[in-house]
Amino acid sequence: MLQSINPFNNELLREYNEHTTEEIIEIIDLTHQAYLVNLKSSFEERSEKMLTAAELLRSQREELSILMTQEMGKPIIQSRAEVDKCAWVCEYYAKNAADFLSDEIVETDATKSFITYNSIGIVLAVMPWNFPFWQVFRFAAPNIMAGNAGLLKHASNVSGCALAIEKIFEEAGFEKNLFRTILASSSKVKAVIENPKIKAVTLTGSTPAGKSIASTAGNVLKKTVLELGGSDPYVILKDADLEQTVNACVIARLINGGQSCIAGKRFIVVEEIYDDFVSLFCEVMKSKKMGDPMNEVNDLGPQAKTELRDELHRQVLKSIEMGAQKLLGGFIPDHAGAFYPPTILTDVRPGMPAYDEELFGPVASVIKAIDQEDAIRIANDTPFGLGAAVFSQNLALAESIAKNNINAGSCFINTFVKSDPRLPFGGINESGYGRELSPFGIKEFVNIKTVFIK
Ligand code: NAP
Repeated sequence: MLQSINPFNNELLREYNEHTTEEIIEIIDLTHQAYLVNLKSSFEERSEKMLTAAELLRSQREELSILMTQEMGKPIIQSRAEVDKCAWVCEYYAKNAADFLSDEIVETDATKSFITYNSIGIVLAVMPWNFPFWQVFRFAAPNIMAGNAGLLKHASNVSGCALAIEKIFEEAGFEKNLFRTILASSSKVKAVIENPKIKAVTLTGSTPAGKSIASTAGNVLKKTVLELGGSDPYVILKDADLEQTVNACVIARLINGGQSCIAGKRFIVVEEIYDDFVSLFCEVMKSKKMGDPMNEVNDLGPQAKTELRDELHRQVLKSIEMGAQKLLGGFIPDHAGAFYPPTILTDVRPGMPAYDEELFGPVASVIKAIDQEDAIRIANDTPFGLGAAVFSQNLALAESIAKNNINAGSCFINTFVKSDPRLPFGGINESGYGRELSPFGIKEFVNIKTVFIK
């Protein structure tokens, strides 16, 4: 039985029966049949339906946002923005997929040689709860436009969102069963990957889940894209605009309850402005309101699950035990719900969870660097490599650092890291591999075929 529990008050919202093994096989068969029918459709036909999906998202924004906020606790304003962003990614691929996947002539010794892109079949998506709509749509929109079918295994605590997404694609007019949700715990994923009708797997989730899925998929030679965890460094140089920097850092650490793979997690500040940064950072973090995520005045709702909140607190306590200083927060509030307050740790050093691990919640690790070179060294001193940011008024210098010195899938300057349908998104090292979004995203799960005519 899968349970959706409202993390604001720990009340059970709904229980869902898991699909049995036989039911999952039947769903895969139906999805495969839908894929074969859909293969005959043109880009124009798919595009029209994808635009309808975008319209449905916009027209159902409020009910979908409430569902999301109830199932995983994000502030309602952020849920609404997430639904709008899903509509945007649908529109982006509806408009651009045909162009991204058009044949490309390559001059060779042939009369004609070209690259063409064929769909591959059903792509399995194993998805996390933190952006329950966005993570799914950024995979589904390009893949459906490319002619693939989608099978979603969502995180066990957001089954309501998973089923709502399935419904949107059906209501948009896509072939019935072209996009299906299976209600299943992670123990069922291995058999799904091994099913011959599943052609590839995309996972957004933790690094351990990525390793497990990649090894199963590797054994049956199926391609994977892995969007995993991160411990994004924000490098703050001596000439950074303090107010702009602090505001960006606070948003970066608190958005989505701090439960974002690309949240700023380690704030590495050069000595010259360290004290000023810490004092303003503390002041702004303290001013943020925590409470009912349905109330628009609150910046921070509960964490998505009590056990994850408790694990975050354990990481904080262990870091403090090892010498980190607690400047703000760092306690479990004495009321119902999976709440954790905005927290700042300083004197964070290697060996501490706050330095080495991903802290998936509103806890900022502040680290002092001797100078710019030291700050870059600390930024790269991580097993992850998802996002990063550099703050400096010297744009030429910041650009050069972003381009040449930071080891990450993206590096933003003077603002926090965010995803955008037009830009590739993904990581390196323990943050995974492959890219979503942009023209790169739609080419991950297609057969890049060469045609050569003598
Ligand atoms: P998670 O525990 O890894 O779960 C993600 C999904 O994988 C869920 O559907 C989960 O199913 C499933 N899963 C977990 N272990 C598995 C296994 N061994 N085999 C097969 N499936 C497995 O992660 P989460 O707690 O939901 O999400 C937080 C993590 O996701 C963080 O590390 C965050 O950084 C990362 N994330 C990365 C990105 C990115 O784009 N790079 C974006 C968002 C989040 P159950 O729910 O049934 O366990």
